[in-house]
Amino acid sequence: MKVTFPHMGHIYIPLRAFFTALGVEVVVPPPVSRETLSLGTRYAPEFACLPLKVNVGNFLEAARKGADTVVMAGGVGPCRFGYYAQVEQEILRDLGVNLRMVVLEPPQGHWRELWQGLRDITGGAGLREIWRAGRLAWRKLTVLDELEHEVHRARAQEGERGATTRAWQRILDQVDEAGSVPEVEEAARRGKVLLKALPRREGEAPLRIGIVGEIYTVLEPAVNLELERVLGEMGAIVERSIYLSDWVKTNLVLHSLHLRDDREEYRLAAPYLGHFVGGHGLESISWTVRYARAGFDGVIQLAPLTCMPEIVAESILPKVSRDVGIPVLTFMLDEHASEVGVRTRLEAFCDLLCARRRQKEGGTAFAGVSRH
Ligand code: SF4
Repeated sequence: MKVTFPHMGHIYIPLRAFFTALGVEVVVPPPVSRETLSLGTRYAPEFACLPLKVNVGNFLEAARKGADTVVMAGGVGPCRFGYYAQVEQEILRDLGVNLRMVVLEPPQGHWRELWQGLRDITGGAGLREIWRAGRLAWRKLTVLDELEHEVHRARAQEGERGATTRAWQRILDQVDEAGSVPEVEEAARRGKVLLKALPRREGEAPLRIGIVGEIYTVLEPAVNLELERVLGEMGAIVERSIYLSDWVKTNLVLHSLHLRDDREEYRLAAPYLGHFVGGHGLESISWTVRYARAGFDGVIQLAPLTCMPEIVAESILPKVSRDVGIPVLTFMLDEHASEVGVRTRLEAFCDLLCARRRQKEGGTAFAGVSRH
C-alpha cells in the first residue's frame, strides 16, 4: 500500500512520520503549484470550494508518483467539508484513477470507525504502535507550530530579505528528517539557534496583524499566495487564529473527550453572532475582537470564494471593525487570485495601518474595512 493525503501547510511532516513509523509507505504529493490547481479546477465542479479542487489536484499528482490509497479526513457540521471525501472519490472514479479512499471520521462518536480505518491502513497495527507513531507525529507538529511563531516575529525584522524563509525551510527539513522524539527535540533546539542568529534590523515597532478565516486558506501558503511571508517581508508581525496543533487538540482530542470549552469564543462573538455557522466563521468574529483588545493594528480574513461560514463572518465584520476599532481586510480567494493583486492590496492595507498608528499617536481614532 502506498498512502497519500492532501497538502495543508506543513501537515505532510507529522503525517509522513506517523505512517512511516507504522511501516506504511508514504507518497507525499508535490507541493501545491499552478499545475495542482489547474488539474483540480479541470476536474472538480466549478462551484466547489477551492480546497476541494486543490485536494483533487494533490491526489492526481500523487497517483502519478505511484500512490494507490488516499487518507482523507471526514467531517460533520453545516458546511460542505463533510462531503469532500465522497465527492473526491466520485471524481477520481469518473476519471478512472485507481486510488482507494480511506476516510478517517472525526472521533466524536466514531471511535470504532476511526480505529478500523487506522488498522485498515496500517495492516492491523496495535494500540501501542499507533500510540508511539502518534507521539512522534504530535511532537513534530507542536515543535513546528512553536517555531513558526518565532519565524513570524523574526521575518518582520530580518536584516537580509529572505533569510528567515530560508532558515524556516531548513528547520522544516530537519524536523521532517528526525526519526525519534529526541531527534525532534534536537532539531527544535538547532532551529531556535538558527532563528536567533539571523541578522535583525532596528527601527520602528513592526505592525501586528491577526489572520482569521477558513482553516485551509489560512494554513496553506500556496493557496493564500504566501500572504504571511509577504506581510513579514513588508515588516509586519503576523499571528494566526489557527495553528494546526491547537486545532488537533481542540477538535480531535478535547472534543472527543467532551472537554472542549468554546465558551470564550461564544462570549466574544455573542454581540454579533449567537450560534455556530460551520467551519471557523464564529472564530473569525471572536478572534477579531480578541486582536483588537490585544492592541493589534489590523486583521485579515482569508477564505475561499463561496465559503459559507466565512461569508456569514464577512457580512458581520464591518460592524465588529467599527465597534472595536480595528481595520479588517477580507480576501475571498479562488483559482483566479493573483500574487500581484494580493500584494497590491496588502501594501495599501499596511500603509493604512501605519497612517492609523500615526493618527492614534496624534489622538484621532480611525477604522475601516476593505474587501478584495
Ligand atoms: S469551511 Fe468553507 S471552504 Fe471549507 S468546506 Fe466549508 S464552505 Fe467549503
